Amino acid sequence: MRVHNFAAGPAALPLEVLERAQSELTDFNGLGMSVMEISHRSKDFVAVAAESEALLRELLGVPDNYAVLFLQGGATGQFAAIPLNLTAPGDQVDYINTGAWSTKAIAEARKFAEVNVIADEQASNYSTTPAADTLRVTDGAAYLHYTANETIGGVEFGYLPEAGDVPLVADLSSTIMSRPLDVSKFGLFYAGAQKNLGPSGITVVIVRDDLLGRARPQTPSVLDYAVMAGADSMLNTPPTFGWYLLGLNLQWVRDTGGVTAMAERNQRKAETLYAAIDGLDFYSNPVETRSRSWMNVPFLLADSSLDQEFLTQAYAAGLTNLEGHRSVGGLRASIYNATSQESVDALVAFLKEFERTHA
Ligand code: PMP
Repeated sequence: MRVHNFAAGPAALPLEVLERAQSELTDFNGLGMSVMEISHRSKDFVAVAAESEALLRELLGVPDNYAVLFLQGGATGQFAAIPLNLTAPGDQVDYINTGAWSTKAIAEARKFAEVNVIADEQASNYSTTPAADTLRVTDGAAYLHYTANETIGGVEFGYLPEAGDVPLVADLSSTIMSRPLDVSKFGLFYAGAQKNLGPSGITVVIVRDDLLGRARPQTPSVLDYAVMAGADSMLNTPPTFGWYLLGLNLQWVRDTGGVTAMAERNQRKAETLYAAIDGLDFYSNPVETRSRSWMNVPFLLADSSLDQEFLTQAYAAGLTNLEGHRSVGGLRASIYNATSQESVDALVAFLKEFERTHA
């Protein structure tokens, strides 16, 4: 029996993907070996890697003048790789701070560059995104970085920040593949795979060609975009199983309608859940309506002393991973692509029942 999984990441994967991996686990492509047991340079694995990249390009509509990289070190590795690749010492960079992940990206960038925080939503306790027309990008900044979806705070940009000639750089870790994206508006975006792309251990970076080849000389080779692009992301041994699973997951996205269908389903799931939270007295979501995330829905009980009982009873009802991030507490339901409307409906039924029996 599969549970209703609301994990924030690593997160639920589609059952079809897991079953396909299971069916191929001991004998991939009739080789008598698993995909984990063959060289990353073998023709069978190179085909897996190429197909994953082609699918990613097709699903997101990535133009030819962008490189698609499959790296290690997580999104956190990119917090450092971005300034290392895109700045020289003393350069200015702009960041928008909408919460915990932006804050971490900013702290890392400060090791390498002069960071201007051009908007900081601290006054709202990070429950908002800045109004689009208030953003003032610094002349000559090497890039503008923002976190499109704050996984902990459940705050998502409903628009693309306008950066003019300054390259727009985005952390899409918890929103990539959830809705269509105009890739041409970005200089670079990146995502740890463990929410909407696949398992943890692999990180996707999509970067415009003209931003390649600018890395500082001391940049580690595995973080140097031009080096990794030149080596087809195989300068060293890549996480082969994760790359393979990512490819299976992208096939599932394609076969179930692509990003447009994902967006329709995700919007409906999010609307269902927010309507329940808003409509019941016992629950609240702190995020301003226009910045509510489609992927991560934090919520509070009117009586927080019931949090543990809520989690215990939810678990008994087959609803798992509903605790809020350890840094903020409360509750959170993450509803990525692989979490179905049926799971959201089951959660809503549970919210109603818990209120009825505890209010
Ligand atoms: N950015 C965002 C928006 C995230 O949600 C996370 C992880 N939850 C990270 C960055 C850090 O990712 P990683 O653990 O892959 O380094």
